[in-house]
Amino acid sequence: MQQGQPMIIMGDDAQRVQDKDAQEYNISAARGVAESVRSTLGPKGMDKMLVNSMGDVTITNDGVTILQEMDIDNPTAEMVVEVAETQEDEAGDGTTSAVAIAGELLKNAEDLLEQDIHPTAVIKGFNLASEYAREQVDEVATAVDPDDTETLQNVAETSMTGKGAELDKDVLADLVVRAVQGVTVEADDGSHVVDLANLNIETRTGRAAGESRLLTGAAIDKDPVHDDMPTDFESANVLLLNDPIEVEEADVDTSVNVDSPDQLQKFLDQEEEQLREKVDQIVDSGADVVFCQKGIDDLAQHYLAKEGVLAVRRTKKSDLTFLKNVLGAPIVTDLDSLTADDLAVGSVERDGDEELFYVEGEDAHGVTLLLYGTTDHVVDELERGIQDALDVVSTTVSDGRTLPGGGAVEVEIARRLRDYADSVEGREQLAVEAFADSLELIPRVLAENAGLDAIDLLVDLRAAHEAGDQHAGLDVFAGEVVDTAEAGVVETAHAKEQAIASAAEAANLVLKIDDIISAGDLSTAGGDDEGGAPGGGMGGMGGMGGAM
Ligand code: ADP
Ligand code: MG
Repeated sequence: MQQGQPMIIMGDDAQRVQDKDAQEYNISAARGVAESVRSTLGPKGMDKMLVNSMGDVTITNDGVTILQEMDIDNPTAEMVVEVAETQEDEAGDGTTSAVAIAGELLKNAEDLLEQDIHPTAVIKGFNLASEYAREQVDEVATAVDPDDTETLQNVAETSMTGKGAELDKDVLADLVVRAVQGVTVEADDGSHVVDLANLNIETRTGRAAGESRLLTGAAIDKDPVHDDMPTDFESANVLLLNDPIEVEEADVDTSVNVDSPDQLQKFLDQEEEQLREKVDQIVDSGADVVFCQKGIDDLAQHYLAKEGVLAVRRTKKSDLTFLKNVLGAPIVTDLDSLTADDLAVGSVERDGDEELFYVEGEDAHGVTLLLYGTTDHVVDELERGIQDALDVVSTTVSDGRTLPGGGAVEVEIARRLRDYADSVEGREQLAVEAFADSLELIPRVLAENAGLDAIDLLVDLRAAHEAGDQHAGLDVFAGEVVDTAEAGVVETAHAKEQAIASAAEAANLVLKIDDIISAGDLSTAGGDDEGGAPGGGMGGMGGMGGAM
């Protein structure tokens, strides 16, 4: 190492790994995680069953869900998990791809390090390649209009393939696209803004996913507080209330002394009076329907029913907020200040079978996706798939660009990167080439996961791209090279840019480390919870770093 290095004083249990050993150690930890999700990539990817310490089972194909549930206890491996989380937050899809590319970058970097290329050169080359690759994504991308329902449905279907949502993907893709279109507005500058706050998902078991529906307005999973209340209104004055319709609690310290039946009666009368007054305030405002976030006293329920008012208590906070968007009404927090201006006009309809209220505002803001699945596990995975598809379609609408899927864009970018590498000086050139190779992992794994000959197909793909076919990608079902854009396998450009950027960043982060100083024992194989020394947590490494 260099001279002038500071002296580091460590405890007895502490361990230190430096230089190549540190890099090797970190690379294998990160690669282990990356490779654990590879088998889920693509329409033919497998699912994973995850059982947590509480015995809860999750069956999923979703990269970020797998990594989050894996409970990874290794700081380097956690960086890879962060790639997946960033990708999920930023793009809602492409998590497996991002993580797999990060792992492949590290694998190829390891080869370069073995050839005595300095990590700094590798990092620099990766940075150049990442930037160039993202510029090229934009070149390869095709513009898409928010009204182009067909393309958007293809985008939704591509993101759903291999997921729980797949079986009914034509029905669901249609719902997803209509849902997104239903909450898209055009901004003054002509760009399109998708407001997902105006979109709610309500899940139900017991029916096939294909029966899922899109509703205008809100679906509220609640019963009326009283059987005698009306439940359907074509045009109702609706009150959204976050104030209990109950007797106000006296101060905890005050005790009420009741000495005679007279006094008791008076006390009860007072309570009744208070409830009556609250109900009158509601009735006087002109409200026909009350969605209350708090409780409603039995007696008040009775009064409200007699007045022909529909009341719902303990409405979920999220539902009340959504109703606020749907109806454009404020949420009233104090009945004493209630006026007619606080009400909004909307229609309310009771679905007795589903035990839901459908609420629609006059100006029709907001939509609800009513998702069905046969069982809880099915509906959970379905919801994850739909949530991703919603994110992907809304990103596509606001970003306005699509890319050919099935590995087409990766092969095209790799080809362009190899041309670009010729112009890069020094050792960095090798890193740019390694970056190109790493992107081609995607078509390779798509083929592998489908039981196809990855090597042959990659040769075919490269040849097609050399011949100028930018859209040549894999049809994993037919096992051949096709124009994937034409075949409807399309992805969103934004997710791809994000995946490339975060994979490169994570790889570089790992490569930059040349010194690991751990307060705990580094070699504790597989022992997740062992060596709880502060800053330990490097245990578990043995399990991750295995040659997967
Ligand atoms: P990720 O978490 O990266 O989104 P997925 O399991 O969703 O992982 O797989 C995405 C990959 O599968 C993309 O490269 C996409 O182009 C590809 N893909 C999706 N549908 C098809 C298809 N019908 N044929 C070929 N490739 C497909
Ligand atoms: Mg996906």
